Amino acid sequence: MNEMKQQIPMLDLQAEYHDIKDEINEAVHRVLESGHFILGEEVEAFEHEIASYLGVRHAIGVASGSDALLLALMALGVGPGDKVITTPFSFFATASCIVRLGATPVFCDIDPRTFDLDPDSVRRYLEAFYTPAVKAIIPVHLYGQCCDMDPLLDLARRYSLKVVEDCAQSFGSTYKGHQSGSMGDIGCFSFFPTKNLGGYGDGGMVTTNDDDSAEHVRMLRVHGARHKYHHEELGINSRLDAMQAAILRVKLKHVDAWTERKRALAAAYDKELSGIEWLQVPYVMPECRHTYHQYTIKVPAERRAAIQEALAHAGIETQVYYPEPLHQQPCFVGQQELPGEPLNADAVVRSVLSLPISPGLKDGDRREVGLVIKKSGDEAVR
Ligand SMILES: *Cc1c(COP(=O)(O)O)cnc(C)c1O
Repeated sequence: MNEMKQQIPMLDLQAEYHDIKDEINEAVHRVLESGHFILGEEVEAFEHEIASYLGVRHAIGVASGSDALLLALMALGVGPGDKVITTPFSFFATASCIVRLGATPVFCDIDPRTFDLDPDSVRRYLEAFYTPAVKAIIPVHLYGQCCDMDPLLDLARRYSLKVVEDCAQSFGSTYKGHQSGSMGDIGCFSFFPTKNLGGYGDGGMVTTNDDDSAEHVRMLRVHGARHKYHHEELGINSRLDAMQAAILRVKLKHVDAWTERKRALAAAYDKELSGIEWLQVPYVMPECRHTYHQYTIKVPAERRAAIQEALAHAGIETQVYYPEPLHQQPCFVGQQELPGEPLNADAVVRSVLSLPISPGLKDGDRREVGLVIKKSGDEAVR
């Protein structure tokens, strides 16, 4: 652990709370006075607001982003013997939902520029290995940039696969003007506190334009009961609570302004860092509106630890998302399928570095991060 006081954190949630304290306190108070804490009016109102923000027919509040993914696959009937294509470069929950249902994750490769699932890798896999056991694709809009969705949706149509978007990091991100979570069959959001739209606890949302899937998820989130105490299916307990919904309704009003601030910070980082020849700033596809859940650069693998340490010394927090690809996780070994080609993901995990990018990050602090990176990297290079 670094003993120095952290001066520039990845994300400052306390500062954010202080900015909107009165609104949040009012919302929390409203829920406490209502005496209604699980699902109910507050959650329904939030579900409607999210559906209209995204332009989808249905939004269903659940207990977490992990549960949203699990419920989405359950609603689509994924089970033992099935295969689901996804990326090896994501948070654990993207793939654990597949294995939990007895299905096999197929880890296709990423585009090393965008870090997202590469449609060409998926196409090569399907052309070589497709069987009817392949049921779905889970593209992850990593760091806040949407995957190249058109070729993925095209492959899904050709092979009759369902598309479940993992939007945990992409609230408000768009591809050709379409919101993430509105393009596939089902979208899955997380409201974990650090996400683009984060609550003060766990929370998640399933989004879809399909009436049947929506009804199915609504039933599965309450133990598979359409009517109380009559269980048609083996569901789970996964409900959004009223307190989170009330807090998230407040934050939803601010999220676009926060995203714009992060985009401005990213543009300034781009400008400052793009002249440094040993690092790469994030590549943004022209089709995408990046929301910068993370601002992630690539540095030479053998120098990353030294650069991170120099930054920590200057009081600047950084993170590595993610240090190990999913196909190397001990609990997936023997339960997965790989496409039989060398994976870009194996190299990318060793060179990514995420920098502070909170809406509250001051311009002076952002400049400081840039300066220290340049200096530390130059030193590490020598
Ligand atoms: C955070 C995250 C999840 C899981 O969301 P939780 O709300 O923490 O369960 C899933 N996928 C990705 C890509 C995430 O970043």
